Amino acid sequence: TSFGFKQVQEDEKSKLVGNVFSTVASSYDLMNDLMSTGLHRLWKDRLVSMLHPFAGMKHLDVAGGTGDAAFRVLESINSVSNKALQEGLADTKQETKIFVCDINPNMLNVGKMRAIERGFGEDRSLHWVEGDAEALSFADGSMDGYTIAFGIRNVTHIEKALSEAYRVLKRGGRFLCLELSHVELPVFKQIYDYYSFSIIPAMGELVAGDRASYQYLVESIHRFPNQETFAQMILDAGFEKVEYDNLVGGVVAIHSGLKL
Ligand code: SAM
Repeated sequence: TSFGFKQVQEDEKSKLVGNVFSTVASSYDLMNDLMSTGLHRLWKDRLVSMLHPFAGMKHLDVAGGTGDAAFRVLESINSVSNKALQEGLADTKQETKIFVCDINPNMLNVGKMRAIERGFGEDRSLHWVEGDAEALSFADGSMDGYTIAFGIRNVTHIEKALSEAYRVLKRGGRFLCLELSHVELPVFKQIYDYYSFSIIPAMGELVAGDRASYQYLVESIHRFPNQETFAQMILDAGFEKVEYDNLVGGVVAIHSGLKL
């Protein structure tokens, strides 16, 4: 039937689209590994360890694209709750929910494929939501945790994203942001500037065939507010106990805050 034909066409199409995404995603991953010499994995581990994930928590990872942070939250909960179960401490009444929110449905598709590859395909805690960090679809006071990794730099109005983070968190909820930041150490700064302005765009051209995007990436890092300014913006959104950790001399910073 014509319906059957159409179905086959659509299956083919989604397979093709899937292939395109996996190509994009793998060059994206390769670039992340090359640019950060693999360190972005450790930085994401650090981000999630600062979150202190727990079984039954409601967590929102914004700009979560490929699922990198969400999978770590899930792995952490699984290991902790396994231990707790053995000790008879797990709160099995509360359902764990980890929401991955991204404005780009293609990135969410990459994440969903990754989830399957990693054996999380059947995991009912993961929820994929298309949405804008500046106007979240989640209820006020609904989340125990909020993370955003290499995402807030891309948001048009950072203040709006911060006030949305504040709104959706419960009292006691934790905000954590991992972002490329500013290097101030004199010699290291010169090396880093050379690396970012000269080497990264060239690498982008060579590896991903896309110089312009990586040029943009470098410029957006330089435009982003420095550690102190960004901390002040988080305070202005209403958060308390605002702190930040510089990693690799400020190449990356993790900012945290609590909604009290
Ligand atoms: N968090 C992932 C990671 O660390 O690998 C992905 C980071 S990627 C550099 C930036 C992501 O931000 C992209 O997936 C992009 O679609 C998303 N993004 C950009 N603007 C956004 C917005 N206003 N709201 C939600 N997501 C956004």
